[in-house]
Amino acid sequence: MLDLKDMEYKELEEYLISVGEKRFRAAQIYKWLHMGVTSYDEMTDISKALREKLGAQTYVSTLEIEEKYVSKLDGTVKYLFRLPDGNCIESVVMRYRHGLTICISSQVGCRMGCRFCASTIGGLFRSLTAGEILNQVIFAEKDMGERISNIVLMGIGEPLDNYDNVIKFLHNVHNEKGKNIGYRHITLSTCGVVPGIYKLAEENIPITLTISLHAPNNEIRDSIMPVNHAYKIEELFKACRYYLEKTGRRLSFEYSLIHGVNDSVRNAEELAALIKPLHAHVNLIPVNRVEERDFKKGSRNEINAFCQRLTMRGVNATIRRELGADISASCGQLRKRAGNIKDE
Ligand code: SAH
Repeated sequence: MLDLKDMEYKELEEYLISVGEKRFRAAQIYKWLHMGVTSYDEMTDISKALREKLGAQTYVSTLEIEEKYVSKLDGTVKYLFRLPDGNCIESVVMRYRHGLTICISSQVGCRMGCRFCASTIGGLFRSLTAGEILNQVIFAEKDMGERISNIVLMGIGEPLDNYDNVIKFLHNVHNEKGKNIGYRHITLSTCGVVPGIYKLAEENIPITLTISLHAPNNEIRDSIMPVNHAYKIEELFKACRYYLEKTGRRLSFEYSLIHGVNDSVRNAEELAALIKPLHAHVNLIPVNRVEERDFKKGSRNEINAFCQRLTMRGVNATIRRELGADISASCGQLRKRAGNIKDE
């Protein structure tokens, strides 16, 4: 059975024409799907005959809210969504002054193997379809009853390891007949899948790209991020420079501070030297403790000092504020608890 949310708008038009319908029906159906209907019967301006025809060949995909947590500290909402095949994924809605931002997943599990990350424990189960990625935005927004204005692809999975579906999702969520979210309000985070960065640079999609760097040299990066064995820092930065030149879009870097691993004075100096020529922003994230991993965060003073060292060297750096600390909002943790994952 087809999920119409896996189709881009043009494909939906072609599909409808192929089953003998008029082109304009696409706009109506697209709108309903993106509003979060759960069956064709809710499409009240579509004839019963067409609803039955659609129902025979296609289905309206949904996400079930398996668990939901609301932070008492800052209103952050964390969803554990159940997919039609029983797998679970996580999405987090954060409240900022400029509106709601959703952090969404792109895969069930992940095969990138970053040592500090909970999402990769148990490996990759499967990639999400374009419709399943979109459904997180649709059903979170429906549940919140408020418009979601920003999206970060920073949940479970490596978006550039599910390239085609992620691009399709981006086209759909941006489409003015659907959620109409501006590309400038969307951020994609990657651990550094270099060929994907080159491809993305050609798409003409002006989203913000952020790179999970987490180490200032190959020796450290090799030891915590297996992707670095395939693409060294030099290659990664070459791709970043290309992306910058090609798109003119801002780039930023994530750097999880892990005590005793990548947070020394020398590491700050190395990092500053790498970043400075790109004029990029660095987001420092005090590493979150994951039960299965024994990485620790430094003290507040040490984290502040690391940030200051970057700033002093002319690098624009900030420490990420932790949201939803009381509901284990950092990703990978709920899915693991839900027993959706094999133990290592
Ligand atoms: N695969 C993509 C998307 C995941 S984004 C990527 O790697 O960018 C999630 C961000 O949180 C990444 O920067 C990731 O490296 C970081 N992260 C994962 N586990 C973490 C932890 N325990 N503490 C702090 N940051 C972590």
